[in-house]
Amino acid sequence: MSTLPVMPIGPVQMTDIRDEHKCGCFRICASYKSPAKVRGFDRFPFFAAELFGRDPDYWNYHLIVQLKGCPFRCIYCYVDDAGIRGHDEVNLEIGDLVRGAKQIMDRDDRLHVFHLMGGAPALHIQKWAEVARTMSAGGMSDVIFHSDIVLVEPSIIPDFVPSLQKLATYPNHLIAICIKGVTEANFRENVRTDAFSLAECLENLHDIVRTGIKYYITLINPDTSALPSFLNHLTDLLGWENAQRIQLLRVRPYNVTRQRLLELDASDSVLALMDHRFAAAEQIVDRFTRHRHISSCPTSCGDWGRWKTSDQKENRHAAQIDSAETARCSEYWR
Ligand code: SF4
Repeated sequence: MSTLPVMPIGPVQMTDIRDEHKCGCFRICASYKSPAKVRGFDRFPFFAAELFGRDPDYWNYHLIVQLKGCPFRCIYCYVDDAGIRGHDEVNLEIGDLVRGAKQIMDRDDRLHVFHLMGGAPALHIQKWAEVARTMSAGGMSDVIFHSDIVLVEPSIIPDFVPSLQKLATYPNHLIAICIKGVTEANFRENVRTDAFSLAECLENLHDIVRTGIKYYITLINPDTSALPSFLNHLTDLLGWENAQRIQLLRVRPYNVTRQRLLELDASDSVLALMDHRFAAAEQIVDRFTRHRHISSCPTSCGDWGRWKTSDQKENRHAAQIDSAETARCSEYWR
């Protein structure tokens, strides 16, 4: 059986994690702290609820292992550099990794998602289907396999697409595809390397979505002046139904990020700037999704309704949209 290089949590990241959420090579993390406070957090639980049923709360907590390696050096990364590029990896057999995960999940009824995180976990794409298969055979077939793609991996791993196609045959998976910028300059500003380009990432995105995997898109620290045209481009690339599963993430002031800023002689004002950008980008994404609804759905409120259902769950945890909300949709674009 093959192995995966699991990285123990680094020393600074350790200070960002509550004691009860650390367990050896594993850690436990909630996507949101409370259903009423989800602004800028990962909406994984809402996307999972749409795809797999149940309430978003059911999918909120993840059991995470962090894998070695990442080609980027994002300023806002919340993993220690040592946790990505250090030498402390533990090469775990996939069977042992999955058995260890199951033992923890059996003891904690909040956990229904197993998250291979990075670094860039898709550098180990050839092992993803094996992990999913082992989960399925080991009594975890109702657990979601979750991982992340940062879009440069197909340029590094020759058989990336066929490997991802194998995962697509495993029903319980949901993958976050991370877009690191909306212009070439914005991309380089975020990932701090010239080794890759945004154009290359978008080409890879095209190939990735054609594998049939279940996915949603995340975006962080976008240049707001180019964001509207980028969102239109994304819609042309993915189609409306898929482009609307976009999640704007807010940069969090974790100790790891502050420490990195100190080492770079930057200050907390960088964090404030990114937060300011987030607020502006949030309005653009919200407006865009409503505009696109009207373009694609001139006679009924069905598309907007589905999008709005997520917002409602976030704000009020309601399952249905009511007719007043639907009427407001029509008024907004009259
Ligand atoms: S891609 Fe993710 S893991 Fe890699 S440096 Fe950026 S934030 Fe960190």
